[in-house]
Amino acid sequence: MSKQTIIVWFRADLRIHDHPALVTAIANADQVVPVFVLDKNALTGRFSSANRNRFLVECLEDTRKSLQNIGGDLVIRQGDAVSELKALAKELDAEAVYYTADYTPYALQRDRQVEDQLTKEGLEVRSFGGKLAVASVQKLATKSGSPFKVFTPFYKAWLQVKRRDVVDPPKKVPFPPGLKVGRLPALDDVTQSDMLSPDVANGGESAARKALTNFLDGPITYYDSDNNDMAKNGTSRVSPYLHFGCLSVREIETVLPDSNGARAWHRQLAWREFYHYVLLTFPHPQQEFQERYRDMQWDSDSQLLEAWKDGKTGYPAVDAAMRQLKQEGWMHNRARLIVGSFLTKDLGIDWREGEAHFMQWLLDGDMANNNGNWQWIASVGVDPAPVFRRLYNPSSQRDKYDPNGDYVRRYVPELTRVPDEHLSEPWRMSEDKQKKYGCEIGKDYPSPIVDHKLARQAVLERYRSA
Ligand SMILES: Cc1cc2nc3c(=O)[nH]c(=O)nc-3n(C[C@H](O)[C@H](O)[C@H](O)COP(=O)(O)OP(=O)(O)OC[C@H]3O[C@@H](n4cnc5c(N)ncnc54)[C@H](O)[C@@H]3O)c2cc1C
Repeated sequence: MSKQTIIVWFRADLRIHDHPALVTAIANADQVVPVFVLDKNALTGRFSSANRNRFLVECLEDTRKSLQNIGGDLVIRQGDAVSELKALAKELDAEAVYYTADYTPYALQRDRQVEDQLTKEGLEVRSFGGKLAVASVQKLATKSGSPFKVFTPFYKAWLQVKRRDVVDPPKKVPFPPGLKVGRLPALDDVTQSDMLSPDVANGGESAARKALTNFLDGPITYYDSDNNDMAKNGTSRVSPYLHFGCLSVREIETVLPDSNGARAWHRQLAWREFYHYVLLTFPHPQQEFQERYRDMQWDSDSQLLEAWKDGKTGYPAVDAAMRQLKQEGWMHNRARLIVGSFLTKDLGIDWREGEAHFMQWLLDGDMANNNGNWQWIASVGVDPAPVFRRLYNPSSQRDKYDPNGDYVRRYVPELTRVPDEHLSEPWRMSEDKQKKYGCEIGKDYPSPIVDHKLARQAVLERYRSA
């Protein structure tokens, strides 16, 4: 039976394409009210980020415009989700709240509270898929019934899961006339300007669809060979849009071309699903997944940590990557691996420090992906491998994945004139060469803060004795 009014509670699903909750609400009700509740605590909490807050505001603006174009709007409320939804439901005399399921421990707890409180008020509260390609991904299990801990068998099982159909964007939203929709927050309300990156991508579904089209029209063909080259535009850069739900990964699956590049890219999307699965089946992100490493002794040296954060370690690949992060609010995946290995293995610093720093700056900063990847590169997480396999030499990584030096020179201007053969280890240049190329080590560019060879021995011992 059709309902009079359904509220669609938007969260990390800021799009109108392939949005099952929105489309079902429109099919089931006379009036539909999309709402986003801005929770100030979430905007300023431990894992908040000025870059992501700004991006969120842009996503909200874009979603509101798209909904307005089809007769709807996006109501903005500020405060705690339970109270705001309760108040709005009362004001509208609504009968149901629909939303897209989310999987972080915080979101799950919040959604349980909303469900408890609103069902008590007689409302129907219903969650829909849309965040991942596979709904109920947590049901996947090994033959013995335990959760997957290794990516490849998960991936094989995940590929076999029957997918839902993609839903078309709505043509019309039956929005009640005269409802106060509320102002979008001003950027100053949600961001600290000194923590904003200058060269960030714009938020919103419109920008997301452009970025996706650009990638599908070209680079995806060569993704399998180009994805590790840090200077090339070889990856899609859609990660922030996936994080905020401006793109539906299920819809993406239906438009992928048939090529090795596209298959390799689809496999990367599966890593995203895997880390969400891991967070659902092991919801303790602050704990090492591997029990044997939970009491590991990490070093704490604030000077080394600051040098890493500022991109002043003396290792060009690490420094370029850390500066890219602050400049663009994004970092190439290969670079994330290099700096993650460097922090945890060369400097022996707790992976949680790296995780927190990334969360502060990344537009795509995401509890599941960030935590999962930090644990992976620190060799304490799922998909285990011997420590030395994820202990990268930052110099040979630079040789291999930035062969022309374009990446390093783009982000570390002090090294612009240093010739290729010295770009991985500039401290090995003679004094004459340092002068000639305008890069005196210790003056224009830092000396290496650690000796990789010595650090390698120490870290192998640290993990052996853990
Ligand atoms: C230490 C570390 C921290 C990371 N933190 C995050 C994070 O907070 N948020 C985040 O989205 N990704 C994170 N990643 C994964 C990966 O680096 C980014 O997803 C990728 O660089 C985003 O760029 P892209 O969109 O061009 O990726 P593409 O290469 O075009 O891949 C397409 C999509 O697949 C997914 N994907 C690709 N690689 C991975 C991966 N290793 N794990 C999970 N998903 C993946 C992403 O959604 C990505 O947008 C992290 C990786 C490391 C090593």
